[in-house]
Amino acid sequence: MMMENGTNNTKTAIAADAVVVGAGPAGLAAAIALGASGCKTVCVGQKFNADPARPDTRTTALLQTSVLFLRNLGVWHRCAEKAAPLTAIRMIDDTGRLLRAPDIEFHSDELGTGPFGHNIINSDLVGALLETAQSVPLLRLIETRSAAITRIAADHVHVETAEGQRIDARLVAAADGRNSGCRDAAGIATKSWAYEQTAMACNFEHTEPHGSCSNEFHRMAGPFTTVPLPGNASSLVWVERPDTASSLMQIGDEEFRERIAERLHGLLGQVTGVGPRASFPLSGLTPAAFARNRVSLVGEAAHVIPPIGAQGLNLGFRDAATLAEHASRAVTAGRDPGSDAALSAYHNARRGDVLTRTIAVDLLNRSLLADAVPLQALRGAGLHLLKRIAPLRRLAMRQGVAPALNLPELMQGQPAGASVSGN
Ligand SMILES: Cc1cc2nc3c(=O)[nH]c(=O)nc-3n(C[C@H](O)[C@H](O)[C@H](O)COP(=O)(O)OP(=O)(O)OC[C@H]3O[C@@H](n4cnc5c(N)ncnc54)[C@H](O)[C@@H]3O)c2cc1C
Repeated sequence: MMMENGTNNTKTAIAADAVVVGAGPAGLAAAIALGASGCKTVCVGQKFNADPARPDTRTTALLQTSVLFLRNLGVWHRCAEKAAPLTAIRMIDDTGRLLRAPDIEFHSDELGTGPFGHNIINSDLVGALLETAQSVPLLRLIETRSAAITRIAADHVHVETAEGQRIDARLVAAADGRNSGCRDAAGIATKSWAYEQTAMACNFEHTEPHGSCSNEFHRMAGPFTTVPLPGNASSLVWVERPDTASSLMQIGDEEFRERIAERLHGLLGQVTGVGPRASFPLSGLTPAAFARNRVSLVGEAAHVIPPIGAQGLNLGFRDAATLAEHASRAVTAGRDPGSDAALSAYHNARRGDVLTRTIAVDLLNRSLLADAVPLQALRGAGLHLLKRIAPLRRLAMRQGVAPALNLPELMQGQPAGASVSGN
């Protein structure tokens, strides 16, 4: 990683409009967007995949608006060849229940606006973000073991790295993940909950083409979802009860490959190779506010939801784009990007989108888990309606892909002035 080292013998503070804490995908996207939109920005964070014992084996299905965002930021040309388009989603009821919901397919050509999105391995995405970040003149990247807010003053915030580098900024973008220390320092309380489920994520190869189609097997313990990758390869998110997941995490590669093949019922031909797997206990989190005390929450610092319907990082990118838009407007007009008014505008802009997605994903997940017959009947009826009524299906697809309202400019068309390189 080509980041500056956070060690500073002179202890001179760096002054900035904004400091982003956390160099995960949401933090890097926020840092690039802030810098490219005219804010003097510092991003402090740890190396991606710094802990070899816990590699990030996930991929991200980037929805159309996130791809547009990356294109506008000059990141997409570094991702395009490594990403696979997603043009269809097939939902299969594999619950084995008496009351079976109909299988249903969604096709992006029904919307006529191109693929639903593109799927990319997280390490490729973060690599592309990091490479782009290095070319943004107003952005400085500092690598650190850890950074923390040490003081929130009336008109600025002090952030300090574990190695002793201080940054004074008017706005902090807290992109330090679900256990965000910056969120705590700003005094933002959270509500969190756990699901009795664990997701396992890995990538695998198969003999039959996926046809750019994602397959969601709805099972009683949670979904088993494949998403296309380039070539005859797919990513897998397999949700199970924690004790079953724990046993599956311990079996050998060959046995795990066989388990995947069983669950696929031959859909992608033979499963020929499986990459490393990692597990993620499912949980949810919502903050009492999306911004307070000069700190705005971005990515999983602002919302944690189960990996169903590819919403998590897509929400995180919408946080990043919205924050950059608000901060850039303030800085350009000579106003304070961390003022209470600016923070409250950010809170209002993000609240509806995040809360509706959190509730929708929660309901979708619980509807699979619940055994109650009326709930299963309702779910089946809903899917029947979607299958038969094309306008309803199109509405559901549009809603799944992006919010209809308040889409940040950086996610629309080609906004002037935000492009870092010419793609
Ligand atoms: C199995 C699975 C599949 C998923 N699939 C999808 C999908 O298809 N589409 C989608 O949109 N979302 C998906 N998600 C969600 C998505 O992975 C997350 O939303 C995303 O990774 C969160 O990114 P982030 O940058 O907010 O957080 P993180 O990736 O957790 O990054 C936080 C960063 O902050 C750093 N940090 C923490 N504390 C400090 C500190 N004190 N100082 C400095 N740095 C610090 C960490 O080291 C880390 O680099 C999936 C999630 C799971 C579990």
